[in-house]
Amino acid sequence: MNKIKLIYEGKAKKVYETDDPTLAIFEYKDSLTAFNAKKKDSLQGKGRLTNLISATFFELLQSKNIPTHFVKLLDDNHQLVKKLKIIPLEVVVRNVSTGSLCKRLGVREGLNLDPPLVEFYLKNDELGDPLVTEDHIRAFSFASKAQVERMKQLSIKVNEILSEFLLERGIKLVDFKLEFGTDDDGNVYLADEISPDTCRFWDLSSSERLDKDRFRKDLGNVLEAYEEIWRRIRE
Ligand code: ADP
Ligand code: UDP
Repeated sequence: MNKIKLIYEGKAKKVYETDDPTLAIFEYKDSLTAFNAKKKDSLQGKGRLTNLISATFFELLQSKNIPTHFVKLLDDNHQLVKKLKIIPLEVVVRNVSTGSLCKRLGVREGLNLDPPLVEFYLKNDELGDPLVTEDHIRAFSFASKAQVERMKQLSIKVNEILSEFLLERGIKLVDFKLEFGTDDDGNVYLADEISPDTCRFWDLSSSERLDKDRFRKDLGNVLEAYEEIWRRIRE
């Protein structure tokens, strides 16, 4: 499978057309951004780690019957995926309070959220990805009622699968963001990426941050944390 044409360059990945119109190639980049790209850096080897980590999570989810866009890993920085129409929502699942939730609601960091919170954000960089309610989603047709239900159901299942897998490896899955897309027949698939760029991982015993918060908060050793996640999840 060959890259034919660059169709999109985002903050973390390049997306290429292939000779099969139903498939796309993702190239994971070394660039790292936070706070809606106001903070930027590049870390050599980051793209390799997010590519390998995301592929591992998607393979696991696929094996547990979650429909995903993942087709196969191509090399250290590339993977083949189903080309989808992305639903313009980011689904965030939270098991522990932190980040924007604490800022928005003034609640303490580190509270266990049981049942987990599922939130929807509008995928719109210009607006800073605002939080939306299901009524907003319906009113402005960002997604159908059936798609919202399906995304919620799949997100909760993904949380269960990943939380258990990570717990066995000494990692608390604190929160994460998912994206979904549809194929030409309207089937909903889990898309985009699952990595330390899109999740919060805390070491179970020390609560050490093993994710992009090391970059957001200038904690140092960003690449080392990503390496540690890869070390713990690889076979
Ligand atoms: P951003 O657009 O936020 O800067 P990325 O750099 O990760 O993010 O770019 C990847 C883009 O590809 C995102 O816009 C994402 O929504 C989109 N995408 C994810 N999965 C698929 C897919 N299977 N098919 C088509 N586009 C996808
Ligand atoms: N997240 C993401 N992309 C975004 C916003 C959030 O991957 O555009 C992830 C983030 O890494 C975290 C979770 O979603 O794991 C919740 O993020 P939060 O809302 O707390 O936002 P932040 O603190 O990143 O502003």
